[in-house]
Amino acid sequence: MRILIVEDEHKIANSIKQGLQQEGYISDVAYTGTEGYDLASSEPYDLIILDLMLPGLTGLEITTKLRQAENHIPILILTAKNELEDKLRGFDYGADDYLTKPFAFTELLARTRALLRRPKNLSSEELTCSDLTMNIKTFTVTRNGQTIDLSKTEFSLLEYLLRNKNTVITKERLIEHVWNYDADILPNTVEVYIGYLRSKIDKPFRHQPRLIKTIRGFGYKLEEPNV
Ligand code: CA
Repeated sequence: MRILIVEDEHKIANSIKQGLQQEGYISDVAYTGTEGYDLASSEPYDLIILDLMLPGLTGLEITTKLRQAENHIPILILTAKNELEDKLRGFDYGADDYLTKPFAFTELLARTRALLRRPKNLSSEELTCSDLTMNIKTFTVTRNGQTIDLSKTEFSLLEYLLRNKNTVITKERLIEHVWNYDADILPNTVEVYIGYLRSKIDKPFRHQPRLIKTIRGFGYKLEEPNV
């Protein structure tokens, strides 16, 4: 999951980034509204954490512009207490949630998770496909009741496939959402990691349907087997 943090206070921005990283999320930081809007409108993020008072464009202006452009990425607004009115306006402008500064990181994390879960798994910490279950809170994966150990990257890759179940995902899209930009990732690397995942979630379960499908020339799909 790739998150964009738009916040001009470097200390806050960097501590959010660090905290999210520890939870396995990839994030980028923009310190001005202009840079934030440019990134938000050109890169594929899964969530934006957006401060309101920013140099360049304000948080509300960014929200308005994105929604006008039919960009429906979830937006979590950060506001200072005295910006209460702006916060309420934020909802009118198309923001999804808000958090008042100062906030506890656990609160930010809870709201981040809730927003990332929308709209496919509104009420659950669990993502499933057939008898495969991933708990995104405890970082556990099981299939047919058996626990599966995954590396951090394998977990992120499987999480992305689960969130986009039954949809064909290109290698490029996987690279954008699962790996950091600074990592030198080739389409070949994706193949290698898909291979690792298969050897853990499909191959040991010979009597169960295969969940990871290769769509030749397009990419991959995690498929719910027909019942
Ligand atoms: Ca600010």
